[in-house]
Amino acid sequence: MALISDMSEARSQFPILERILPNGKKLIYLDNAATSQKPSSVIKAMNEYYTGYNSNVHRAVHTLSGEATEAFELARQSVANWFGLPSGGMVLFTSGTTDALNLCALGWGKVNLNSGDAIVLTEMEHHSNIVPWQMLAKEKNLELRWVDVNPETYELDLDDYISKIKGAKLACIIHTSNVLGTRNPVENLVKLAHESGAKIILDCAQAAAHEKLDMEKINADFLAVTSHKMCGPTGIGALLISPGIFEEMEPVVGGGDMITEVFKEYSIYQENEHRFEAGTPRIAEAIGWSAAINWMRKLDMDAAHKHTLKLAKNAADGLRKIPGIKIYGDHSKDDVSGVVSFLHESLHAEDIARMLDSMGIAVRTGHHCAQPLMRRLDVTATNRASFYFYNTLEESNAFVDALKTIVERFA
Ligand code: PMP
Repeated sequence: MALISDMSEARSQFPILERILPNGKKLIYLDNAATSQKPSSVIKAMNEYYTGYNSNVHRAVHTLSGEATEAFELARQSVANWFGLPSGGMVLFTSGTTDALNLCALGWGKVNLNSGDAIVLTEMEHHSNIVPWQMLAKEKNLELRWVDVNPETYELDLDDYISKIKGAKLACIIHTSNVLGTRNPVENLVKLAHESGAKIILDCAQAAAHEKLDMEKINADFLAVTSHKMCGPTGIGALLISPGIFEEMEPVVGGGDMITEVFKEYSIYQENEHRFEAGTPRIAEAIGWSAAINWMRKLDMDAAHKHTLKLAKNAADGLRKIPGIKIYGDHSKDDVSGVVSFLHESLHAEDIARMLDSMGIAVRTGHHCAQPLMRRLDVTATNRASFYFYNTLEESNAFVDALKTIVERFA
């Protein structure tokens, strides 16, 4: 099938983007780093499941259950193929990135890390890649080492990483920052971790929305990914694990479906992915995610990201000309995502967001679940406009004009 390289054609497949808000304004959705919108094909696939073959999986011999089981396991295959999972690697379905990172901490970390072992984190991490490791560190007496972020270049301090990774057992690193848009040099970070004998997990929540990740090429031990930022439904994500890791993990949640036999005294666990997926899984969500992947397969990802960057750069350039605005992130680079974080020197971030909302423009305000990074940048919050391929240059310009008006009127 021909690739969609015309972004207005891509946009036409997202019905919500035509939404008129209660105040009569046309929606300009610039909160894509929080969650992306969904194309009609994803909504249709989930609707077809509920109207045509809704049934539990893996449990019954009837037709509906067979159809649901087949669609669910095909979705797992589709995720594995999309992310370039090497043969022998596994897709463990979770509720999202947060759940995947927690599964790594409890299913792998708890079993394989011992008192005194060190974990390397960065100041750029999302809370979901901090709190699970803090909890584990408290329980198992682990050391957490923090890699510095340079507040001028918005990049990781590579020398600091090189010194902190020495002797560490695990590195937990954000692939692409949800605040700065910085894409970390993950291929090099993985290489350095492995050279010093550490395993590495990458938080790919943002990255998966903007680039086609290839796990075999990246060579990390674990990738944590989520569906809802890459045009799929909420409620599902995955921990992708490299060959050989599965055998080092212990299940975290017990119950139906993750066992082969249960006796009064003990249980025998499944030998496959189901070992980590107790209870009824996220069937409709897996089918929806698979439909999103099928949709993304038709999209020219390079053209889409080029377009997204053009809009983000256009907005950043426009904002820079508005008196009192400071931008956090370097938009002169081509390897950043579509986020533009900013603050005005006197207007409160939340007031700006409310005024933009009254003009139909949805942006995010707050610490973006990255408080250590906020402290490093010496702020408590930022405004964040995040662009995606279905946004338009008119929307990017309208956002800049709206901000100009707000600053002229209220600053
Ligand atoms: N990591 C990053 C970098 C994120 O941007 C997010 C979502 N805000 C998460 C983790 C959490 O992802 P999820 O919503 O899938 O749990």
